[in-house]
Amino acid sequence: MHVFRLRGDFQTLDLYSAFLFEQGARGLEEKPGEVWAYFPERVELPLPGEWLELPDTDWLEAYKRDLKPVRAGPFVVLAPWHEWEGQEKRIVIEPGMAFGTGHHETTRMALETLAQRTEPGMRVLDLGTGSGILAIGAALLGAEALGIDIDPTVIPQAVENARYNQVEASFKQGSLDDIEGPFDLVVANLFAELHAYFAQKYRELFGVCGTLILSGILAEREPIVRSALEANRFELLSRRQEGEWVCLTYAAC
Ligand code: SAM
Repeated sequence: MHVFRLRGDFQTLDLYSAFLFEQGARGLEEKPGEVWAYFPERVELPLPGEWLELPDTDWLEAYKRDLKPVRAGPFVVLAPWHEWEGQEKRIVIEPGMAFGTGHHETTRMALETLAQRTEPGMRVLDLGTGSGILAIGAALLGAEALGIDIDPTVIPQAVENARYNQVEASFKQGSLDDIEGPFDLVVANLFAELHAYFAQKYRELFGVCGTLILSGILAEREPIVRSALEANRFELLSRRQEGEWVCLTYAAC
């Protein structure tokens, strides 16, 4: 395995990342004070850095070995091979290409907020379901959960994850125009611009009242989400922040 080592962090090296991928990098990894770019073979790079040669390893196996269980509110998120003695509600997720192993701040905050706001029997929509983790969490709390995603490749993974957890959540490919409300609660871990764009459509998902949990918002982009949601008569109930990520919860009444 060939690694090109650059001094700095992801933020300062952001400019180079598109170029490194264009040159054939298969992945970037942040280490203390440096970023490693993994290449299948050496290439000429006009960048300040140096090449390292690493012994070939099964990277997927190494990644899986390093993956730790994650606690989020009443839940612990486990990979199928993890053993866990704790009393938390278990969500088992097979780490794959779909986003949502619970390790990202945006997923964790959404899952914790979901647990505070979900009651048995509620109709819950997980918009941008990825691995299905949030829909599965809602189903474990007794909700009738639907996960929807624009990316068709994630749906079989979400279905498989629901099977691991022995819950009845439904999944389908599509987006907001492909579903019919009303829902009692909608959770969406997307990104700020998309939340702002969807603000009016979000309102149409609810009956008389409901709860909207929006995650995936970079703190610096939060104002565009807040003004779009306020313009559509949503009332802010709570705000959480972890690192640079914000999760907003609104009442729709
Ligand atoms: N819900 C999971 C979680 O919280 O970890 C996955 C969130 S991941 C950040 C965002 C997901 O939203 C991706 O799977 C992506 O395919 C999906 N997505 C992006 N735009 C979408 C849209 N317009 N409609 C539906 N899904 C969308």
